[in-house]
Amino acid sequence: MSCIFCDIVDGKSGAEIIYEDENVLSFLDIRPVNYGHTLVIPKNHYENFISVPTKEMDAVIKATQNISDAVSKSLKTDGFNIVANNGTAAGQSVFHFHFHIIPRYNTDKFNFRPELKNYGSVSMKEFADKIRNAVIK
Ligand code: AMP
Ligand code: ZN
Repeated sequence: MSCIFCDIVDGKSGAEIIYEDENVLSFLDIRPVNYGHTLVIPKNHYENFISVPTKEMDAVIKATQNISDAVSKSLKTDGFNIVANNGTAAGQSVFHFHFHIIPRYNTDKFNFRPELKNYGSVSMKEFADKIRNAVIK
C-alpha cells in the first residue's frame, strides 16, 4: 500500500520538515490554507484518529502543542485551527493520521463554520443515549 506520508517519513519523498523526534514528524502542507500551514503525523502508519495508539498520540499532541506555539509566534498569527479530518466524508484525502495546524488572521476571508442545525424535530437525548451507550469505560 503506497502512502505519501510514509514516503516522506522514509525519505523517499521530499518535504519541508519542521520538527522530528522518535515518534513524530512535522512538515509544511504542500497546499496551504494560509502560508505556514503545518502537518503533524505519527511516523508509524495509522489510518485515523481512533487507530493511533495512546503513547504515540501523546507524542503527536505534545508536538502539535509545541509547533502551534512556534507557528503562532513566528508568523504573528491572530489565531490558529487544529483540524483532523477522519474519513472521506470528513474531507480526509491522505489516510495516514495527521493534525493540521492552520495559521489564522483577522483579515482571513473564510471561516470553517458550516450551517448549524437545531435539536427540534429529533431528540437530543436519543443521540446522547446512543453515544453514551457506545463509550468504552
Ligand atoms: P487531509 O485532506 O485532511 O487528509 O489532508 C491531507 C493534506 O496533505 C492536504 O492538505 C494536502 O495538501 C497535504 N499533502 C498531500 N501531499 C503532500 C505532500 N507531498 N507534502 C505535503 N503535504 C501534502
Ligand atoms: Zn502512511
